[in-house]
Amino acid sequence: MTDELHQALKDYFGYDEFRPGQEQIVRTILSGRDTLAVMPTGGGKSICYQLPALMADGITLVVSPLISLMQDQVQALIQSGVRAAYLNSTLTPNQQRLALERAAQGAYQIIYVAPERLNLPAFRRFALEAPIVLVTVDEAHCISQWGHDFRPSYLEIADFLHALPRRPVVAAFTATATKAVRDDILRSLELRSPQVYISGFDRPNLYFEVQEPKDRDGAVLEILSRFPDRSGIIYCLTRKKVEELCDKLNANGIQATRYHAGLSSQERQENQEDFLYDRYRVMVATNAFGMGIDKPNVGFVLHCGMPGNPESYYQEAGRAGRDGSPAQCILLFQRRDIMTNRYFIDQSEGEQNGLTPEQALRQRQADLRRLQQMTGYCTAPGCLRKTLLGYFGETAPDNCGNCSGCLNGQPPEDATALARAFVLCVAQLAREGRAFGAGAVIDILTGTERDSLAWLKPRRLDSFGVLSHVSPARLKRVSAALLDQGYLCQTDGPRPVLELTPKAPSLVSGQAHLLLKAKSAAKAAQPAPASDGPIDPDLFAFLKKVRSDLARQVGVPAFIIFSDVTLRDMCQRLPQNRETFLQVKGVGNQKAQKYGHVFLSAIADWQKRH
Ligand code: ADP
Ligand code: ZN
Repeated sequence: MTDELHQALKDYFGYDEFRPGQEQIVRTILSGRDTLAVMPTGGGKSICYQLPALMADGITLVVSPLISLMQDQVQALIQSGVRAAYLNSTLTPNQQRLALERAAQGAYQIIYVAPERLNLPAFRRFALEAPIVLVTVDEAHCISQWGHDFRPSYLEIADFLHALPRRPVVAAFTATATKAVRDDILRSLELRSPQVYISGFDRPNLYFEVQEPKDRDGAVLEILSRFPDRSGIIYCLTRKKVEELCDKLNANGIQATRYHAGLSSQERQENQEDFLYDRYRVMVATNAFGMGIDKPNVGFVLHCGMPGNPESYYQEAGRAGRDGSPAQCILLFQRRDIMTNRYFIDQSEGEQNGLTPEQALRQRQADLRRLQQMTGYCTAPGCLRKTLLGYFGETAPDNCGNCSGCLNGQPPEDATALARAFVLCVAQLAREGRAFGAGAVIDILTGTERDSLAWLKPRRLDSFGVLSHVSPARLKRVSAALLDQGYLCQTDGPRPVLELTPKAPSLVSGQAHLLLKAKSAAKAAQPAPASDGPIDPDLFAFLKKVRSDLARQVGVPAFIIFSDVTLRDMCQRLPQNRETFLQVKGVGNQKAQKYGHVFLSAIADWQKRH
């Protein structure tokens, strides 16, 4: 049995080993049990449902939210020798009819379908007759209102399942780990005694860095010079910024293209392909870009602006280094990003159709909490990986050695005493019935408003005394850190008011410490070097050329032929025949048959010439 699975893994996908969790998930699904799998972006979810689909006797439906994802995956599957198709709005009615007809005749093992299609009459008719044995729900967090990407059409999946004459196995996949979202998925999809897998969220090959530069564009150019020949994504918060930055990069001789919802769908499609096909090496985009982009050789993801929550950040950053080679995730933060994201949250409130006012309010609170956590990531001292994994409920070592927090070596500054005094002042003011926002509290403490608040002095508040000698700038840093790290919160509204959070007592009692990030703009840390063995860079470049010529002929992106990791392994192994070619990482039977001779003769040529 073991061998059958591993054989299929090798034959179709070219891999010798499963990644952590994959084999268990595949086996659970094949045993007929419902499954919920939580895996980080780039962790390798697709194989977990594609492999059972191949082994199963019947049809697998994959419900997926984004059209670009379907096309890519289906294209890749067909290249690997799997009979796959997709059904979505990009097909003409005639093509759709044809696809359904062929599907009904058993032409496909895997059919990707958008959730909106499930309950359309033609699809229903097909589904009632067809032997559907497995329904996979990708990006399953879209079903949850607590998630960061709720899509009402996902709620129709349960109806669809009810309508089927025989209930298939249902497997849900997501990269969002919070418990509320997980529970929502289990409930809304009505999974039956499901096996739940939560795989580790760490992606060890990713290096994390946060900078707080004054001149962000300058920082972007500096960082890009670190990656002269790698392709990468730069995320911006607004369309306008995407346009500006993309122009600026091109003016500086960097081949960049762009993607945001303000472009025509044709231009989006073209630009996306330019990036996927390596015609442009940098993609400047809003968060509209990327869901379902499985470009394995993305060397860096740079955020020019803080995203609104850790889930989105980890998903976007996670698009780097899918092929497992070292890649960098760098975030350029500025305080005003907090305001921008608050604005987005306020805006989206108006759009939440279908939510009761109470639900909308709770969603807003959840959004604000996630924004605060994201701000914490940008401002907290110490290991970034530990902070990030902490949000996903994972404990991690104090020092990962592969993030700017660990590598900059600047010890954080302990401001616990000041912070404690500040919290006590806020508490005291509240007891007095005089609650203020952070700015006003600092003014009071540092004396600009002392005269008008003479009532405070006679109280001889110790904490007040401690703080009255501290500079406003320093108090500002302390109050910002208290907010960012969740000891204080500030109410909304025209007259904001500072309040203690349930976390605050731990600081006052000395159980918790408030650390400030070291202040000096530490110079860029250098991440761990690539761990692959040495290869001949000229041969690698030559094979890349062979691959891109071939890709052009076949009409697919280069990585669908073979990944960079595969080419690198070829450089190392220098295969001479079909047998040794099959030992290369990422080479399966189908691809060996289709492309083996091209690469084998290229390598032989090369060796003759050198
Ligand atoms: P996810 O959907 O979880 O973001 P994917 O399914 O797109 O991740 O997989 C990410 C990358 O990892 C892909 O390039 C895929 O080919 C590769 N991959 C998946 N499983 C394995 C494996 N067992 N061995 C090597 N590479 C793998
Ligand atoms: Zn670290």
